Order: sequence, then structure tokens, then C-alpha cells
Amino acid sequence: MKPLQKKIFEYDRRIERADELAGRYPFAKAPLAFYAEIVKLQKELYSELTSKQDSRLIGPVDGNLRSEIDFAILLPEYPKFLAAVERHAPRPLAAAAAKASHQGSPAWVALLNSYWTRGGKDPESCGNSSLRDIDALQEFLARGFLLGYAEYVSEAMSEPTLDSTPYLCPKCDSLPLLGVLRPEGEGGKRWLRCGFCAHEWAFRRILCPSCGEEREEKLPVYVAEQFPHIRVEGCDTCKRHLRTIDLTKDGNAVPETDDMAAIPLTLWAQEYGYARIFPNLLGA
Ligand SMILES: [Zn+2]
Ligand SMILES: [Zn+2]
Repeated sequence: MKPLQKKIFEYDRRIERADELAGRYPFAKAPLAFYAEIVKLQKELYSELTSKQDSRLIGPVDGNLRSEIDFAILLPEYPKFLAAVERHAPRPLAAAAAKASHQGSPAWVALLNSYWTRGGKDPESCGNSSLRDIDALQEFLARGFLLGYAEYVSEAMSEPTLDSTPYLCPKCDSLPLLGVLRPEGEGGKRWLRCGFCAHEWAFRRILCPSCGEEREEKLPVYVAEQFPHIRVEGCDTCKRHLRTIDLTKDGNAVPETDDMAAIPLTLWAQEYGYARIFPNLLGA
């Protein structure tokens, strides 16, 4: 399969899975339907970028993904994204999209640049200045749109050579959004998936990706009966948690979509005081 076809197939799987899960988890129906609309836009943007075949869009061979942003290609696509959010989002977000669509290019460049340079990074590493100038709704308007572009640039980049296990994405320095356990040998191998560009890198199973804790008794794992293939991997040292999709338990799971359905796990983690390392697009 060609890379474009493979990617389109992946986007289609995310959308189909949202439909499957909406049937299984009625409480997640509305957020899954909205998420599916966002994925459709990402798929369109991805096809658009690929069809342009612009040499400027081939990412840097080495170095950081964040040095690449091409507004000449991105800006003409942005009004379509804002209009779709206005149509499908819950009211406060729809209103923010309507407001943004009237603001025009200079405001869009400022917003997209702000997220592109600092989104997904650890607030502490940015001296707490990360994204302070934009609110959660604006952050969504940048993140939802740029995710497709970040995935595109990330895939065009060469694989980074790793001499240790990085805690942040080796392509863009973002925090991990999810863990993914993929079948390997008798068990599962753990990968971390980047919250900014969706790149995956291998990570040790018994190790907190936030603080480096490696004592097993400090790393509780919670699995709810309702989601046997999703693990809440906590850390009692830093009180953070990673949500991990276990593909050894459900081979049909699509990590980013299954994550959107797991709303009760967010509530559980909050109740027990484990903050998510990096929340998903819908803020859960
Ligand atoms: Zn990344
Ligand atoms: Zn920790």
C-alpha cells in the first residue's frame, strides 16, 4: 500500500471505530460523533497536502519538526476547519470558532504559531509560559487543525536515532498522549504516542514516562470492567497517569478513538488524584 493510501485507511479506521464505539458506549456518543467530524477534516487536509506535492513540505531530514510550518499552504484550509467546528461542536466551542473565522489571517497566524511552537510541551519546561496567551477553546482551534499537518510533517521526517529512551517525542519534544501495547512474542511491547505529531517510540513497560519512577509498587495499574483493553497507568511518586490502549486485549482498537470513549476513566483518575500527563483533544 502506498503511504497516502495507508494513511487514508488509518483515518477511515478512526472514523469507523468512533461509530462502533458509539454503539457500545452510549454516554460517549456525542463526543465520538464530534471527534469523527474532526478526523474527517484531518483526512481532507492530509489528502490536500499530499496532492500538492510541494517540495517545501518535505520535513527536515534531521532536527525538530517544529521548525516546519508552511502558512501559504495551511491558511487557505483554515476557514473550512473553523466552519466545520462551528457546525458540529458544542456551543462554547462553536462560538469560539465563529469568532475566530471573522478575525482573519493575522489572528490565525498568531494562534497557529503559538500552538505550533509550544503546544504539547511540558509547562514546567517552558517556565510556565506555555500557551498562557490562549484559552482552552482557542487551543482546541489550533490543535485540532494542526494535528493533521503535524502528522504529515512527522511522517516526512527521517526516523531519529535514539541512544536512550526519551520521555518526550524524539521528533517534536511533546509529551506523550497515550501508551500503546502491541503484541510481541508472548506479551505486549509498550510504545508511547506523541500528543502533538502522533509519532510512536518504544518505551519500557515498568517506568513512569513523567518522572522516571521504576519501582513497580509505586506504579499502580487500574483497568475498569467496562474497558478491559484500556489501562490507567498511575504513578504514586509524581501523581500523574498515562492512559494505555492494550492491543493485545483488543486488536480492533484504534488508540486515539478508543481514548475518546473512555470518559469514565478520566473521572476515576481525577477522583484518585492522578493528573493525565497530556489530555486528549477533547480535554479529557
Ligand atoms: Zn511528536
Ligand atoms: Zn511518575
